[in-house]
Amino acid sequence: MKTPYLSIDLDKIEHNARTIVALCKQHGISVTGVTKATCGNPEVAKAMLRGGVQSLADSRLINIHRLQAAGIQTLFMLLRVPTLSEVDDVIASVDISLNSELQTLQALSAAAVQADKVHDVIVMVDLGDLREGIWPSEILPFVGEAAKLRGIRIVGIGTNLACFAGVVPSEHNMNQLLDLARTIEHTLNLPMKMVSGVNSSGLELIAANKLPLGINHARIGEAILLGRETVHRNPWPGTYQDAFVLHTEVIELKEKPSQPVGERSQDAFGGQPSFEGWGQRKRALFNVGREDIDISGITPLSNNATILGASSGYLALDVTDIQTPLQVGDVLGFTLSYGALLAAMTSEYIHKQIKTGKHS
Ligand SMILES: *Cc1c(COP(=O)(O)O)cnc(C)c1O
Repeated sequence: MKTPYLSIDLDKIEHNARTIVALCKQHGISVTGVTKATCGNPEVAKAMLRGGVQSLADSRLINIHRLQAAGIQTLFMLLRVPTLSEVDDVIASVDISLNSELQTLQALSAAAVQADKVHDVIVMVDLGDLREGIWPSEILPFVGEAAKLRGIRIVGIGTNLACFAGVVPSEHNMNQLLDLARTIEHTLNLPMKMVSGVNSSGLELIAANKLPLGINHARIGEAILLGRETVHRNPWPGTYQDAFVLHTEVIELKEKPSQPVGERSQDAFGGQPSFEGWGQRKRALFNVGREDIDISGITPLSNNATILGASSGYLALDVTDIQTPLQVGDVLGFTLSYGALLAAMTSEYIHKQIKTGKHS
């Protein structure tokens, strides 16, 4: 395999999905697998489905098209609030979308009527994370108006936390969501079939049995892909954290002083990094850079290797203390954060190696 490459272990993804789905099922929650960090990779999506997720979601239509072009048949959910310019495509391509603008719902309604379809909608509520959603005090009039539109069916409400401002899902805000659902049901006589409360940040609440009964849907990406809950980013028990590993190759290996020589100004990205005085050190340069990865989000699999920095095309590591000495041409593996995974999947410079295992 040409370097750099990202290995993708489908069996580990399937296993992670199975673990998360089983936990959620015990608590009456169905799981939609979120593929956006993999750019809607069909093999990853299929592994999620084998692991038991009930449907698939992505934030971009282009990724959903990729999944459908690969022949995947399941329920598809659009996670990002649609643009006005894509409503026809939303109606044609996805079964259910998350929404927060009446104007967009009106456009979806017109497009659905035109296509002779009924499109399902989850109305998003902002419970404090300040990304998408209607403020709770506005929800009743909003849903009241939306429910009048033909061609769309309001099937539930949802909220997204932890992604933008890092607001943690709690018994309090989850009860708030549930109360809003019940209020809509009583006041507007509109059944809220789906109460979509959590993403990967909700796992601790679920496992602690603190998620109020009635929250019945979760949209899960990171916990399946990288085996982590996202409040503390702790590994989730019974899952793998290395389903994705970035492999990159040593292209220069030299002993150099740990501190730069000469008068210093800014680096290529406008930063002014500092360098410790460690004396002569063994430094390895690798063939990835900031163009391909989020360097703060990669961790060498090898102990005692320290990331020093990166430019657009080079990654530099201090490898003085590695047990088995490296050579030019050696390949080193790194685990990834969500941001690093997203960047690596998006980079066309990083080859993707799908490990098929028992499903080859
Ligand atoms: C990305 C996203 C998710 C998945 O979040 P994870 O933390 O990866 O589980 C869920 N819901 C919405 C609306 C999203 O945008």
